[in-house]
Amino acid sequence: MERQVYTNPYEAKKIISITDFQKRGEARKTVGSEAFNLEYLSRFTDEELVDDMLGYLGEYRFEVEKYDYKLKFSADESGKFHLRDMHSGESMVTKAEWAIADRKLSARPIHREVAERDALIKLDDMLRFSKTGDSIIWASPAGPKEEGYGDYGFIFVGEVSQKGSGKEINMRAIRLEKAKIGQYKEAMRDILGEDLGFEEPDDFLSSPQIVRDLDKEQIEKRIARRFNLKSDNQNANLLNRAKDKLSALTVKFADIFRYATEDEKRKALYTLENFAILLRDQYLNGDFSNLNTIRVFESRLPINYLISKFSQKPPQVAGSCGSSGEINSNNPLANGSSVERSINFNYKFDQPGPCVTCGENIPCGPCGLCMGCDIKAQKEGSLNKAA
Ligand SMILES: [Zn+2]
Repeated sequence: MERQVYTNPYEAKKIISITDFQKRGEARKTVGSEAFNLEYLSRFTDEELVDDMLGYLGEYRFEVEKYDYKLKFSADESGKFHLRDMHSGESMVTKAEWAIADRKLSARPIHREVAERDALIKLDDMLRFSKTGDSIIWASPAGPKEEGYGDYGFIFVGEVSQKGSGKEINMRAIRLEKAKIGQYKEAMRDILGEDLGFEEPDDFLSSPQIVRDLDKEQIEKRIARRFNLKSDNQNANLLNRAKDKLSALTVKFADIFRYATEDEKRKALYTLENFAILLRDQYLNGDFSNLNTIRVFESRLPINYLISKFSQKPPQVAGSCGSSGEINSNNPLANGSSVERSINFNYKFDQPGPCVTCGENIPCGPCGLCMGCDIKAQKEGSLNKAA
């Protein structure tokens, strides 16, 4: 299967106007542009932000084994059915288009996002003919390490139920640490009863399937067996315990994520991540030495005080060469989320040189590569995979 890296933003298949994203890109350079923030970023509700934030913290800071999403399949005014975000009603295909256009702006590889979008278009089609009791199975093996993807993938298992003229989908993301592509092949064969012949992560990613003869539970059992999953869900339970406290702080920060400058948003995210780490460690180790700090987070002190005190960069997420906020998710449902939209997740080339590859003494990205070498490395990484 051949892979390509697209670097020309004009190659976009225009479902969303590319000029919107160019405006957005320009606005990023002049952070704090009111028009930009109001027009593009302030549309999400508190509820949507909390959902997306818990998903983000769950993936990167708690490494939860299972995460549940609710999606709906419903028509818009024009009568077109799409899989949609439960809160905003935005179609998942549109979110995927957003992610593609966003990555194009910074000349980053988009093969995964294209595969995700193709998958969502297929799902829209398949769901029209699905009925209550049908299951969805969709595998998302980890993306290439050299493109900044972590060493874990997901399999999504969905449950379809009819709701009025539309449908509701209960989707569970099952996290798979260091899984081999052969395990994905075997798991899919166990579930579908046939070999799909896929070899590359993008092949799986672009091909969700509807299953009629197995329910969600039976499918999950087969996945657990094939990947030797533990059944205690320890991390998911930790997130569950921290959920209310993290949600409350996210709501307090909501307007920062909507309206503030890039720098302020990043600081608010770091503050939330640091709070998440404190809570996780307390619940995990029974370590109450940070109890007073946790109380400060929960106090009525002004949010500016919290941010001034706790917005230091959190520890790097395992498996990424970047620091927090500079990694790519292997979770297609996280694409185009309100968290991803409000924070600029692209690399910043703001580290001191020299470049570890060409030796030139110019500003470098989080992996120690200058911008030129970074783009080159990403292209070569993808091409090597194809060979
Ligand atoms: Zn270089």
